Amino acid sequence: MGLRGGASSPRVIDGKAVAAEVRARVAEQVTKLAAANDGRAPGLATVLVGDDPASHVYVGNKRTQTEGVGMRSVHHGLGTSTSQQELLGLIQELNADDEVDGILVQLPLPEQIDQDAVIAAIDSRKDVDGLTAESAGLLAQGRPHLIPCTPQGVMELLRHAGVEPEGADAVIVGRSILVGRPLASLLLNANATVTVCHSRTRDLAGVCRRADILVAAVGSPRLVRGDWVKRGAAVIDVGMNRTEDGLVGDVDFDRAVEVAGAITPVPGGVGPMTVAMLLQNTVLAASARWG
Ligand code: NAP
Repeated sequence: MGLRGGASSPRVIDGKAVAAEVRARVAEQVTKLAAANDGRAPGLATVLVGDDPASHVYVGNKRTQTEGVGMRSVHHGLGTSTSQQELLGLIQELNADDEVDGILVQLPLPEQIDQDAVIAAIDSRKDVDGLTAESAGLLAQGRPHLIPCTPQGVMELLRHAGVEPEGADAVIVGRSILVGRPLASLLLNANATVTVCHSRTRDLAGVCRRADILVAAVGSPRLVRGDWVKRGAAVIDVGMNRTEDGLVGDVDFDRAVEVAGAITPVPGGVGPMTVAMLLQNTVLAASARWG
């Protein structure tokens, strides 16, 4: 349980380096898949509605990295006033398009569009964000296919840092569909004893102090203080908060690093993993669809 080998000095987990390894692995798989399929590489369709600057940056990054590992990237940019019907029509086209192996709809969507209805419309075989009810259900049942990218990235970082979830007390702060809930399933499937905290949790500090693996996915700058961290624990900070001090996580890194056995920084921890796992999911979706 906990850190294999019992680290005495804290290890800062380099998410950029781990993400680069994942991309290299994906690029090899892409080459093999293409060779076995008359040169046809897997294809990822990205859909962006509106002109939110941050979303444009995220999608641009996803497209660049998709092409960087040798996959095809097909982009659909739609105007802010796009109707739900129009978007659902596009999703149906992409579902039916044999050249498209993965569909990524960048969230959030403009307010006139029902996000849940759009996610539900995605063919679960192409659900590379892992957000459809079918993907979530399979994960919750312990037989996952396409897993949400950020929690999958967290598991990859733990593996890389030599953290063994089996038998460990894992505490996740945050219960979103995007991060907290799927991560709880992943850790449970890996035989950790999982506690999920949220805004109504009593004695959050006390619960966190019991954790061998502590994951913060809240969206509240430095909420998790250094004295909430058990000595030697693995601390994974999913939070990305823009503050006057720049981008900071949900963990008070400067204090937590003094007691943690392993810890992710922000930026450079979980962030780079999310896109890497999206690429991995696209290869997985393509291999499964192509048999
Ligand atoms: P979210 O949907 O807003 O969920 C936040 C969760 O935190 C909720 O479950 C909420 O509880 C809980 N919470 C809020 N205040 C709390 C408090 N004081 N004590 C305990 N729990 C509290 O957020 P999300 O989408 O999961 O994202 C969380 C953070 O991760 C954000 O900073 C986001 O930017 C970041 N993120 C990063 C990546 C990445 O690639 N690095 C990807 C996704 C998200 P209730 O359920 O009770 O409201």
